[in-house]
Amino acid sequence: MSEANKSINDFDFKLICEYFSSMERQGPGSPEVTVKALSFIDNLTDESKIADIGCGTGGQTMALANHTTGHITGIDLFDDFIDIFNANSRKLNLQDRVKGVVGSMDNLAFQNEELDLIWSEGAIYNIGFERGINEWRELLKTGGFIAVSEASWFTEKRPVEIDIFWKDAYPEIDIISNKVGQMQKAGYIPVATFVLPENCWTENFYAPQVSAQDKFLKKHAGNKTAAELVENQRHEAELYYKYKEYYGYVFYIGKKV
Ligand code: SAH
Repeated sequence: MSEANKSINDFDFKLICEYFSSMERQGPGSPEVTVKALSFIDNLTDESKIADIGCGTGGQTMALANHTTGHITGIDLFDDFIDIFNANSRKLNLQDRVKGVVGSMDNLAFQNEELDLIWSEGAIYNIGFERGINEWRELLKTGGFIAVSEASWFTEKRPVEIDIFWKDAYPEIDIISNKVGQMQKAGYIPVATFVLPENCWTENFYAPQVSAQDKFLKKHAGNKTAAELVENQRHEAELYYKYKEYYGYVFYIGKKV
């Protein structure tokens, strides 16, 4: 569920959830990338409290759980995603320490300084990167970590077509150094940043959609919303293939000082 389609918010949520819930991921990423981001984070124990905000069906949460021993709460606005998340957690026998709850990232039910780690892949754009890193910081213990992936420009200049598309979809998209500056300003040590490899988009995000799209369209034949949703996703994928040297997802890892 990429932010590259702001108009997605206008669509019928049930349909969107149905479209994306058949996929393991709702945004670009991979288990390897999750583990790599985790490699920059230390001090985690069995007692650690971790939140995965905008967790979707939990693709990355389960990868995170396999490489940590603490308690993880996944939070997502959509209950259908959370139902799948909790079914996945049970399937992997992780239900005692990995739980999904319905909630909104702008009103999280944690105490101040309760969390050791805040995780969020491809989701912070929903409230905006700068607002998210500032508000969520309150919930972190001093010395705790934040790790978020976020759409970013790779170059200072880019073709007009992709510039217009993104500025409409997510005006906060920016170059990496500016995002790092925002982290510093918010009160984090910028511990690491790295660019997600292309396969996170191509193999793991767009390819599964191609096979799901025909099925989805057949099931919802004649439904304008469904047709528009697929059309938007196809357009977004085409733009990615055309302009992937100019933008992508970047992981930003910070430590609260
Ligand atoms: N982290 C997952 C999902 C990314 S898609 C992955 O990488 O696969 C973005 C997710 O943010 C969706 O699951 C969407 O339901 C969720 N979301 C959107 N607005 C939200 C909000 N206000 N609070 C919590 N989750 C939200």
